Amino acid sequence: MELIRNPLGLLLLAALFVPLERLWPLHKTPLLRRGWKTDVAHFFCSHPLQQLALVIAIGVIVSVVDPFAASVVQRQPMVLQWLEALLLLEFIGYGMHRAFHAVPTLWRIHAVHHSSEHLDWLASLRVHPLDQTLTRSAQFLVLTLLGFPVTLFAGASVLLGLWAIFLHANVRFRFGVLERVIATPAFHHWHHARDARGNYAGLFPWVDSLFGTNVTSSAWPTASGTDDAPPERYWAHLTLRRKDVVGPLP
Ligand SMILES: [Zn+2]
Ligand SMILES: [Zn+2]
Repeated sequence: MELIRNPLGLLLLAALFVPLERLWPLHKTPLLRRGWKTDVAHFFCSHPLQQLALVIAIGVIVSVVDPFAASVVQRQPMVLQWLEALLLLEFIGYGMHRAFHAVPTLWRIHAVHHSSEHLDWLASLRVHPLDQTLTRSAQFLVLTLLGFPVTLFAGASVLLGLWAIFLHANVRFRFGVLERVIATPAFHHWHHARDARGNYAGLFPWVDSLFGTNVTSSAWPTASGTDDAPPERYWAHLTLRRKDVVGPLP
């Protein structure tokens, strides 16, 4: 993901997603809609912070963990290793995502991501650095324990990261029966819906079906966001301030 974490990367993402969102918009919103500056600040500040924290976590994990099944895992054909790694990443990601919604301290971190009232590709960048650092570290720990190569984790992370941007896009495409197999914008827009809570998976919606949390419908959710959102300022997001404790009391 380092390739896109620079001004050129942001421009490339804009060049890809802005035309899509202008041609097939789900909601007609101005190009520079409310909150865009906060999202761009997340791109330039949260993402490098997350990258730094993740590099430290990966360094610690690699130095202390002794893989116990590396010889078995790495002898398999590469396609099988990829399939297994994606499934493991997905189930761990699902569990972590549910924990971020269920545990109050974790929710305070994750509420930053759910504070977007307008979902689009830019809104996908609105993530507290600790959010993905914790999830990716847990995923990396399990994969390393089992002996999957680091390069496979890195490749899968790039794939999942780019797919996550697409999931937030303000586009009205539906994918028919494919929506049961692979996560699409409609699936993830339902995760951000104000009046529904489910769809925690990042890649395979059937994982949600398996655990009874798939809330996708043939319609689109009417509103995104959360009543528990932090104030609409980057510093408030980073420091996890709450709306009700902002500013001096009268
Ligand atoms: Zn969530
Ligand atoms: Zn999201």
